[in-house]
Amino acid sequence: MSKKYDTPLLDELEKGPWPSFVTEMKKAAARSEMANDELGQLEKSYRTKRGYWKHGGIVGVLGYGGGVIGRYSSLPDEFPGVAHFHTVRINQPSGWFYTTKALREICDIWDKYGSGLTNLHGSTGDLVLLGTTTENLEPLFAEYSSRGWDLGGSGSAMRTPSCCIGPARCEWANIDTLEICYQMTQKFQDELHRPAFPYKFKIKVAGCAVDCVASIARADCSIIGTWKGKIEIDQDAVQWYAKNGMDIKAEIVDMCPTACISYDGTNLSIDDDNCSRCMHCISKMTKALKPTGEKGATILIGSKAPIVVGSLMSWVIVPFMKLEPPYDELEELIRKMIEWWDDNAKPRERIGELIEARGMREFLEAIGVPPQPQQVFEPRKDPFFFWKDEDLTKE
Ligand code: SF4
Ligand code: SF4
Repeated sequence: MSKKYDTPLLDELEKGPWPSFVTEMKKAAARSEMANDELGQLEKSYRTKRGYWKHGGIVGVLGYGGGVIGRYSSLPDEFPGVAHFHTVRINQPSGWFYTTKALREICDIWDKYGSGLTNLHGSTGDLVLLGTTTENLEPLFAEYSSRGWDLGGSGSAMRTPSCCIGPARCEWANIDTLEICYQMTQKFQDELHRPAFPYKFKIKVAGCAVDCVASIARADCSIIGTWKGKIEIDQDAVQWYAKNGMDIKAEIVDMCPTACISYDGTNLSIDDDNCSRCMHCISKMTKALKPTGEKGATILIGSKAPIVVGSLMSWVIVPFMKLEPPYDELEELIRKMIEWWDDNAKPRERIGELIEARGMREFLEAIGVPPQPQQVFEPRKDPFFFWKDEDLTKE
């Protein structure tokens, strides 16, 4: 084991009642030279206020273009344990369900080939393993794949689809998020492992508009469960909430974004035609309110975090799609979106940015989706006029 580092600045992050990543790194450092040198380099970064990671380099496993992110220290002589410190993405199970046996298996393999440091989970959704060497990548992958694990997406590829826990544990799920996520992962295997896109493309599936996976802010294609029928109201339960201290006017009526709820002091009523299915009232009064009727999903396009240009929120493309196995309609729609983007985007241009540049009209025409009122993102700003030259020359 190399020398033990003094870490007075990192030690500050162990103070207080909350868990500390520094404490976990120290545990790993006691067993792993890589984790130990990572601790030393991180303390130096905090002291000098400089980062010491060199970006990139192409590393990976045979037959795959993605799944491993190359990382090298710019101070390999001082911290030889992190001279190579590649990050490996493991494709997580739908909804992040693991058995303890599976987690032990992952960690045992990782202790053998890497630093022992993990990140559960990265913001894309993958199980992230932090720090291994180039020569360890092939044997590491061979062991994981022999036990049924696969790498996730990275680079200009389909990124590992992710979803909320959905019907496994949540009564609000309108769609089987877990199955949709799994099927999309299977259908887009080639695109996941062999980067061939202008930039990244993310799919996230949420069972309802509470959107626990932040799909509306973080996915190029957001799939959000919704319903067509009315919201069923149990008036006894409404009164129970009132008796137990809920201010129904302030907390429910005044918070409805479309002002479609009213309350006369005893009974609640909802103008369902004007409900946007935002889930606010249902999530606050779970015992009293329940969606009914046909269930499906709204498909949205184009959100992203700020990287090349600013952040974007997703935009409704298909207000309602019934989602049942084998999900061919959804797959076909996503393939059309990707094809138009792939044909037209500049390198490192996300699909939302391309739609902003070219216009929603061109995008909708390319994917064969008709314009609909629900697609209007900003009222009075998005005129969905599909006039063509021949319309203007008609009598
Ligand atoms: Fe439940 Fe909706 Fe959250 Fe999914 S997004 S876990 S369905 S509340
Ligand atoms: Fe209003 Fe949202 Fe409830 Fe619909 S779901 S009634 S829009 S608060």
